[in-house]
Amino acid sequence: MAWVRWTRIWLIGGLIIGAIALSLVGCATLVSQINRIGNPNLLLGNPSAAIASLSTPENYLISRPQYALSYNRDKGIPNWVSWQLNANWLGSLPRPEFTADTSLPKGWYQVSPNDYTGSGFDRGHVIPAADRNRDPSDSQAVFLMTNILPQAADNNRGPWEQLESYCRALVKQGKELYIIAGAAGTGGIGEKGRQSVIGRGKVAVPASTWKVVVVLDRPGLGLTDITASTRVIAVNMPNQQGIKDRKWQDFKTSIDALEKLTGYDLLSNVAPAVQTVIEAL
Ligand code: MN
Ligand code: MN
Repeated sequence: MAWVRWTRIWLIGGLIIGAIALSLVGCATLVSQINRIGNPNLLLGNPSAAIASLSTPENYLISRPQYALSYNRDKGIPNWVSWQLNANWLGSLPRPEFTADTSLPKGWYQVSPNDYTGSGFDRGHVIPAADRNRDPSDSQAVFLMTNILPQAADNNRGPWEQLESYCRALVKQGKELYIIAGAAGTGGIGEKGRQSVIGRGKVAVPASTWKVVVVLDRPGLGLTDITASTRVIAVNMPNQQGIKDRKWQDFKTSIDALEKLTGYDLLSNVAPAVQTVIEAL
């Protein structure tokens, strides 16, 4: 009978359309999963388009569960480090030893903690020790020398540390932060005067340390929650003695100014129209 045949055709057609629809949903889910598998510490973007390739030793991507960074083999310091901060990351473990990063490609010089000894500069964490101390693997990751740069004590223990503490105070209030920090320029003034390199020339001393903080209302928000009214903090602090008692707010700048200084595209994953507004503040 004709109606039986038509019913069968409709059923088969429906099944085929259903299968196509399911596989499309499956593809979309897979794509979004791949995006989420990407290091969440890099949510805001990869400022220098760093990749983990032997052909880019001055901009070499190191991606870990605790942070992502661009390492500069020839300077022996990170160009920038990017990380997420919320209360869940915070702990109270004691500080481990600084250690050379043995994960670097074969043949690359591994900066040693001893390269800083007697230099007049602190072993300055870019992502701070106290932002990653809830379990031993987190602590060890931030004490690798690839996260360290020669930092004048008055910068490191003065306004730089004040801003780090302020960030942790924000996350204890329930905020979630995305932070990118790095080094710019050449030559700083440590306890033994001006230096452009330490560690027998293996470690470059930057002229300043800079940081960008994007403040979100609570953990779990994403890129689309970053709007023209999202709070951002940007600072650039000279890598010099003599600033210990200055306030971190004295060194405020704009993200636009930091982009000009570094040549990086900061917050590159944020909607361009939003970048235009919050980077100019
Ligand atoms: Mn420090
Ligand atoms: Mn930008």
